[in-house]
Amino acid sequence: MNCPACGSKATGKVGVEQYYCWDCCVEYSVRRNELNIFEVAEDGTLMVLGTPGEI
Ligand SMILES: [Zn+2]
Repeated sequence: MNCPACGSKATGKVGVEQYYCWDCCVEYSVRRNELNIFEVAEDGTLMVLGTPGEI
C-alpha cells in the first residue's frame, strides 16, 4: 500500500503488518482497520507520530 504520510509507493515490508517508507523515512503498521505511523529515532526506537484513525 502507499505511504499514509506522503503517499509514496516506495514502501517495503519490515515485519508482520509493519511497513517502511523510503521517501519520508517513517514506519507504519496496519492492523485490520487501524493505522499507526511511527518515526524511527536515531537509536532505533519508534516514536508514535499519530493515529489518523480508521482507513
Ligand atoms: Zn512516506
